[in-house]
Amino acid sequence: MKPYSAWKQLIRLIMPSSLFNQVAPLLRLILKFVYSGGKHQCPCCESNLRKFADDSEICPVCGSGKRQRLQWLVLDRKFTFFDSDADVLDIAPMQYFQDYCLQHSSLKYLSADLNSELAMDKIDLTAAPYPDCSFDFILCSHVLEHIPDDRAAMMEMYRLLRPAGIALIQVPLQDQPTYEDVSITNPLQRTTHFGQADHVRIYGSDITQRLRNVGFSVISETCADLFPLSELEYFSLDEKDIIFTAKKPENDQINSG
Ligand SMILES: [Zn+2]
Repeated sequence: MKPYSAWKQLIRLIMPSSLFNQVAPLLRLILKFVYSGGKHQCPCCESNLRKFADDSEICPVCGSGKRQRLQWLVLDRKFTFFDSDADVLDIAPMQYFQDYCLQHSSLKYLSADLNSELAMDKIDLTAAPYPDCSFDFILCSHVLEHIPDDRAAMMEMYRLLRPAGIALIQVPLQDQPTYEDVSITNPLQRTTHFGQADHVRIYGSDITQRLRNVGFSVISETCADLFPLSELEYFSLDEKDIIFTAKKPENDQINSG
């Protein structure tokens, strides 16, 4: 484990959650000072930094990783998301993002997850307890690779979105077609085959077809498509990172109520 993440995990291990939550703002202030500089900026917490932590991965102030910074920038620039009053369902939330949406935006924000203690609702994304057409946005970052029946999860996201609603999707990707094998259930074997003990597949770019199969129109964009080189460096983004914008058609006839 890299140094910043290791320290953070150690502090969380020895400090009760309630105490950690109390001292977190002070820790953030200290880290903001220690890392301050003009070379980089975190788009999420707007900290000006001389560097990011852990080999340019993590914002030392808000904890955002490269994929969270990509998601934030796409939401902000493409959808002026944070200035809207959209209904949002965030699957597997991050603390900083959740706090920001609840405290500093007019969004109608709801987070949900099967396991996360941070999530506001405990749900199974393959059978979510919400009515049809409840949300304008669903944020689903690094979730689908954990779900055995990903088609059911995709169908649920489609059902839950209003016509023209957007599911913003990120997954770990490989250059090969999607690889999955339901007979592999042992955590060690899953790590070997899929890259993590609780992953059930590793996607290829054909995930776009899976999303289209349930009705979405899909655009996939890399960081290099979206941002000039200077911004990739400034925000510390990975040029190859891909984000999928899955849109429910405006004229959807099945779930237009
Ligand atoms: Zn940050």
